[in-house]
Amino acid sequence: RAKKEGRNTYRLFRAEMHRQDHGLLKMETALRNTAETGAGLGVHYQPLFDRDSGEVHGAEALLRWHHPTFGHVSPGDFIPLAERSGLILPLGERLMHLVAAQMRDWLAAGLAPPRVAVNLSARQFWQSDLVAQVRALYAAYELPPGQIGFELTESILLDKQQQAIHTLQALRELGCRIAIDDFGTGYSSLSYLQDLPVTTLKIDRSFIQQLGESRGSSAIVAAVTGLAKELGLRVVAEGVETEDQLQALSRYHVNLIQGFLTGRPADAATFAERYLIRDGAPA
Ligand code: C2E
Ligand code: MG
Ligand code: MG
Ligand code: MG
Repeated sequence: RAKKEGRNTYRLFRAEMHRQDHGLLKMETALRNTAETGAGLGVHYQPLFDRDSGEVHGAEALLRWHHPTFGHVSPGDFIPLAERSGLILPLGERLMHLVAAQMRDWLAAGLAPPRVAVNLSARQFWQSDLVAQVRALYAAYELPPGQIGFELTESILLDKQQQAIHTLQALRELGCRIAIDDFGTGYSSLSYLQDLPVTTLKIDRSFIQQLGESRGSSAIVAAVTGLAKELGLRVVAEGVETEDQLQALSRYHVNLIQGFLTGRPADAATFAERYLIRDGAPA
């Protein structure tokens, strides 16, 4: 009897697996169409504030996807799927064009957009023609040097270090800022940092959210900010949600604040209305 039940459970399990596979497959097909046409793709911008001056120092571009049947799909769901399937390449290229066009339009409208950072996943970073693509983008949209920069995770940079340094150097020559994203969650071989031509460390929000609650998190924030200061790197605290967290950060070397407390990701029109200045007055 037990055996029989076990078998039924197994069958149910298989059915569920199949259903999930099927769902994922459908989503992948939908994402492939989106990558081809661009329909339903959008960009949200989240401000990064200079902690001391309170001014907007930059923004992060975050991909958004709305599908007629799936609705809004979270990047936490579709980015991993895009990475596994390789669709991240065409999607990432679309994102870069959307961001570049937005920057060109804002500049043409007399607004002063801050520098914007685009997330790059491993596959994107390791494209042999990445630097050529970025250079072509700057030229096509006539962007000032450094207008678009990048965020990469630590794990990407641990691989093939010499090649990584070479690519980063070339991007730096275009004026791009380079941030290491989700810092502290990956391998964190700290010694590699001094060799990498990066400008910024973004402390992962998991540490920020446990600040003051877990001694380990405080120790990590202290270590990371201390190291960054020594190396002359800018530090972003990401995922700041409360005044208490902001307060707890005050004793560390943190330059920039990004989080729901100071500004949620918003569509371009909302971002411009809230944060972009024209002739010294809000747009
Ligand atoms: P990320 O690069 O670490 O981006 C920050 C994420 O944290 C964003 O989620 C943002 O909305 C969220 N966030 C910002 N402030 C707060 C806060 O105070 N509290 C909380 N709980 N969350 C906050 P989002 O937009 O869902 O993106 C998730 C991840 O998806 C990103 O993490 C990034 O890894 C990836 N992603 C998003 N857009 C792109 C893209 O264009 N290309 C690639 N390769 N990855 C992307
Ligand atoms: Mg990021
Ligand atoms: Mg991040
Ligand atoms: Mg993150």
